Amino acid sequence: MSDTSAVESDCLFCKIVSGEIPGEIVHVTERTVAFRDINGQAPTHVLVVPRAHYPNAAALAAGDPEASAELVTAAAAVAAAEGHDDYRLVFNTGAGVGQTVFHTHLHLLAGRAMTWPPG
Ligand code: 5GP
Ligand code: ZN
Repeated sequence: MSDTSAVESDCLFCKIVSGEIPGEIVHVTERTVAFRDINGQAPTHVLVVPRAHYPNAAALAAGDPEASAELVTAAAAVAAAEGHDDYRLVFNTGAGVGQTVFHTHLHLLAGRAMTWPPG
């Protein structure tokens, strides 16, 4: 199965999208699912993922630009629903910067002060 197939049989986030593994889902759209990070790093820490499997943000943007945009609008909707005007969006790309799950996910972090640059 290729990296950009709709579903990868051994992918954690494909399994959360399909319901095979439970996730605390907070928002769904046609192309995205948003669920709380299991190891939250802020009062709001939600992962927004495309329903289809792409290994990283650039692959998603190239393969499905509408879904790529929908990740951002979905994250904004979750931030607003949780009462945050200020929030941080992060795509880790590559193990060298901390990507551990190779199904595109946009981190939404909000609800506490944050420093820049990130560590
Ligand atoms: P990455 O490090 O790849 O950018 O982010 C992966 C994120 O997935 C981490 O923040 C980690 O806490 C989260 N995560 C890992 N396993 C699970 C899980 O089984 N369920 C949920 N909801 N989040 C997970
Ligand atoms: Zn996947």
